[in-house]
Amino acid sequence: MIGVVKANAYGSALEVVAQKLVALGIEALAVAYADEGILLRKKGVNIPILVFYPQVQNFKKIIEYDLEPALYNRRSWLEFKKIVVETKQTHYPIHIKYNTGLNRLGFNFQETEWLIEEIKNSPFQVKSIYSHLAASEEERPHKQTDSQTELFKEIIEKHRKHSKAIDFHLLNTSGIFNYPDFHLDWVRTGIGLYGFANQVDWNKKLEPIARLTTTITQIHKISKGETVGYNCGWTAPDDTKIALLPLGHADGIARHYGHGKGWVLINGTKAPMVGNICMDMTMVEIGEIPCKEGDQVIVFGNKARADDLAEDAGTISYELLSGLSSRISRKVIE
Ligand SMILES: *Cc1c(COP(=O)(O)O)cnc(C)c1O
Repeated sequence: MIGVVKANAYGSALEVVAQKLVALGIEALAVAYADEGILLRKKGVNIPILVFYPQVQNFKKIIEYDLEPALYNRRSWLEFKKIVVETKQTHYPIHIKYNTGLNRLGFNFQETEWLIEEIKNSPFQVKSIYSHLAASEEERPHKQTDSQTELFKEIIEKHRKHSKAIDFHLLNTSGIFNYPDFHLDWVRTGIGLYGFANQVDWNKKLEPIARLTTTITQIHKISKGETVGYNCGWTAPDDTKIALLPLGHADGIARHYGHGKGWVLINGTKAPMVGNICMDMTMVEIGEIPCKEGDQVIVFGNKARADDLAEDAGTISYELLSGLSSRISRKVIE
């Protein structure tokens, strides 16, 4: 299993999660960009680190920090090869990424023969060849996924003829649940490590690792017809009360919350976010909920799932979690 810890371990705590995974015996970690891998090396993580989306201008740093890039087109292949040769390395560990239909990064199937020839004369140790599904969480059978798996099978077959040492992988978290027949040599788990799998049944097998809590800064009584927040974003339909929370869009509570989207839990009851989310503060309507200034508020955690909160605002757990900014202090509880 490759543990995916990109984007500050999906908005949690990169170093803590990485060290924990290493202690649990994970075989490799993956990040999106070189700088994330460098951070891990500086913290003493010394297991293999795959870089999914390495940029050519960072190739020297990748070698300097012993990171393993995914090479995804001829330009990245040739540039990396040049630098590896210049620095007199041999058997430098790399991975090859194929595009089988997602149409994001990757070599195309037609480039397989070119790659096979290149591999023979390269200063690389090709550790793995992989691809990525476009719709791994969607119900089977799925036409696009079937075409991707068929193509990837052909790619595996062609490469296996020339080398037995290469590993193959295809699946992210949802794919691991949905395609047990395609686990191959490795799987790449990201969101699943943090407790989400994009389907109710699969979610049941996981436990979210993080809670986001805050406290009530101030409570106001609001009369019917009064407005709340910038641009008079909400008009009270009745006499009510609002609570001010010290979290805003600069913390990752994006502006598509408010206006009936999003809620927090206060003493076990849902309080809806109202008006426009400010940069540093959010207003929630508390009405008759028994609470006082200083009380704890759960934004997500027990009984308030981050994926539900995300869905309420038309987004996904990935975006909500990875968007939580560094201003939110992380507290580690084992
Ligand atoms: C982020 C990423 C993953 C992890 O996906 P999850 O859905 O979070 O499990 C796997 N593979 C690649 C190439 C990725 O970029």
